Amino acid sequence: MFLTITTTGTPDRPATDLGYLLHKHPDSAQQFSTSYGTAHVFYPEADARRCTAALLLEVDAVALVRRGKGKGRGGAPDAALAQYVNDRPYAASSLLAVAIGNVFSSAVRGVCRALPEAPARPRPLRVEVPALPARGGPGLVRRLFEPLGWTVTAEPVALDSAFPEWGDSRYVALVLESDALTLAQALRHLYVLLPVLDDAKHYWVTSEEVDKLLRAGEGWLPGHPEQQLITTRYLSRRWALTRQAMERLELVRLAETDDSEVEEIDNAVEEETETEERPTPLAVRRREAILDALKRSGAARVLDLGCGQGQLTQALLKDPSFTEIVGVDVSMRALTIASRRLKLDRMGERQASRVRLLHGSLAYTDNRLKGYDAAVLSEVIEHLDLPRLPALEYAVFGAARPRTVLVTTPNVEYNVRWETLPAGHRRHGDHRFEWTREEFRTWAHRIAGLHGYEVGFTPVGPDDPEVGPPTQMAEFTLVAKEAKAA
Ligand code: SAH
Repeated sequence: MFLTITTTGTPDRPATDLGYLLHKHPDSAQQFSTSYGTAHVFYPEADARRCTAALLLEVDAVALVRRGKGKGRGGAPDAALAQYVNDRPYAASSLLAVAIGNVFSSAVRGVCRALPEAPARPRPLRVEVPALPARGGPGLVRRLFEPLGWTVTAEPVALDSAFPEWGDSRYVALVLESDALTLAQALRHLYVLLPVLDDAKHYWVTSEEVDKLLRAGEGWLPGHPEQQLITTRYLSRRWALTRQAMERLELVRLAETDDSEVEEIDNAVEEETETEERPTPLAVRRREAILDALKRSGAARVLDLGCGQGQLTQALLKDPSFTEIVGVDVSMRALTIASRRLKLDRMGERQASRVRLLHGSLAYTDNRLKGYDAAVLSEVIEHLDLPRLPALEYAVFGAARPRTVLVTTPNVEYNVRWETLPAGHRRHGDHRFEWTREEFRTWAHRIAGLHGYEVGFTPVGPDDPEVGPPTQMAEFTLVAKEAKAA
């Protein structure tokens, strides 16, 4: 198994810095024994202008088989091992990725004591893997590496060059080139994507692999267009682990995108306040409408789902008829602000026992949310991409199943009444959709039918005879306790 990494230098930054970055001196060939065989690191070329490091892994088939015993599913030796014993010894694979992790561990972490500034600097890089097992072929290789800033050349390798009519093997010859990446980024891409392309792990995948994937994927995996495929294959199609990883990636993505979002939400509320004809700001009217509906339902234990900065949570806390209040949000930043608003750290024991803030995504079922009287989704659904909405619907109406669910969302028809809002614009940059009254009703009736709820509608804010109210609210009440999702 073989790969090379080449960089070029400038007069003040010689290419041989690569030796420092990899913590391997360009003048000597070095060997490292790993549990699968011996890794060799050497430099076929090393001068100030151009420097190439090569990693060659000699697999010890006997050690591998011995190690593999009892490690496969159900205790049987892993069938995936067979190929490493029979296959071309120079093919790159998950073993090569493990070797990268072992032999270049400091470089993967982006640590260099000799040149502390160097790891953070992008540099010209060329990575060559002459025989890369690639299930999915050159097309998939490009889909995986191109979004990361690589120029990709992936040529299928013929099964046998003497017999072209035999067609291509499952290998590609891969060349990656970029000027925009750091060495650490490059190594992390390889560490994750080589085994993904190989699609056959030589070891039994455990939940530790989720941590490894997220660590190596930091900064590039969340939001990668092939995130799902990468995660599924990296975790050898173990669905529970894949789900765990996808959930954590989603949290990262949302936490990353939300930073600006929180401020925008505040601005949006202010904007609504300014453009409101009546003296009471819309956000306040919304909270009043929600509190009213909760009181009518007789709820004592309430979930504030997508609680944001905690304004509703705070209002609930002021009313002693609510004995337990749980705010949930995916944004750590919003939760931090909410906890400051509520003064959670200075609260007396009695108050503190009534309220909790939980970090979590509503797109996943969460056992912590079961058994409550009521749940509020105030101005939350429109922040989810439409394809993600069914996941939230199931998590709330199918799994958590509170007796009452209140959902508020903008009524898009009302937008024409806002003079400051340009025609066709949404009220908030992060709104993925805004519905008409008809669209909201259709959605609500479908969800109610599917999960055994009844639903009624309340306008919030001035109910314009033509375009309706600015905010629409649906009140769901559970009718059939055991109603099943179809
Ligand atoms: N309920 C508050 C905040 C609405 S803004 C109010 O009425 O003022 C929407 C909130 O939903 C944001 O705080 C956002 O972080 C949160 N949110 C968006 N997607 C989410 C998800 N998948 N899981 C949990 N919270 C989410």
